[in-house]
Amino acid sequence: MSGAFRIGCHISAADGYLAMGRRAVALGADTFAFFTRNPRGGAAKQVDPADAAAFRGFCAEHDIGALVAHAPYTLNPCAKEPRVLEFARQALADDLQRMEACTPGQLYNLHPGSHVGQGVQAGIEKLSALLNELLRPEMTTTVLLETMAGKGSEVGGRFEELAEVLSRVGQKDRLGVCLDTCHVWDAGYDIAGRLDGVLEEFDRVIGLERLRAVHLNDSLNPCGAQKDRHAKIGEGCIGAQALAEVVRHPALQHVPFILETPNDEAGYAREIAWVRAVQARHA
Ligand code: FE
Ligand code: FE
Ligand code: ZN
Repeated sequence: MSGAFRIGCHISAADGYLAMGRRAVALGADTFAFFTRNPRGGAAKQVDPADAAAFRGFCAEHDIGALVAHAPYTLNPCAKEPRVLEFARQALADDLQRMEACTPGQLYNLHPGSHVGQGVQAGIEKLSALLNELLRPEMTTTVLLETMAGKGSEVGGRFEELAEVLSRVGQKDRLGVCLDTCHVWDAGYDIAGRLDGVLEEFDRVIGLERLRAVHLNDSLNPCGAQKDRHAKIGEGCIGAQALAEVVRHPALQHVPFILETPNDEAGYAREIAWVRAVQARHA
């Protein structure tokens, strides 16, 4: 993985691995995100090892890297119900195994989950226990905890909550954080008004060395709204100018940027080109 600036978007995994790589290149991306399984369901598709191998060759050839796979939304590692927690354990274990086999050395983005009334502390303890059970030193995948909007009983809306999970997990080399611009904004971190201050706070509480990816999104709602509704770049309350400052912030040049904006492929291609232009002008 090189330290160069990378930008990409969510790519549909419906046609397999190599098709994802080709689509990413066609959009001008050099990194991308994909769901490891149906985002709102359970079952994972069977992997064709030949397709995965062809994909790895394609990525090497086209310098695609720092992939940020995304866990399904239905996976709640903080859950109260044993059945839901057991699904989280099985899906997470299975996803990590598939990442090792098909896309070694990449990133796996995980929502910390919702404590559903048990309280933040109980959620943090369940998530940490699961990570301690499943993360192994021989793994090449890095699990990223995503900063959340603080909607409902979501864990991870405060940097302190992610910091506590990080402090409780033994395999620290296998764990990092993904900063989602829409989510931190919705959680009350004013990245439009005080980006430097927010990143200093991130550094003080979590440590910028733990930041391994950025989800680049505008937000339909004002700072602190705790809604989590993504908008296209420049069509939300954060705004294009503030997001351009994020794109060219010196502390963020080493991590992959992933767009999760509500776009079709043409829209993603336009936003990727915009990010590259903004980043190159001020790098
Ligand atoms: Fe996410
Ligand atoms: Fe996100
Ligand atoms: Zn979101």
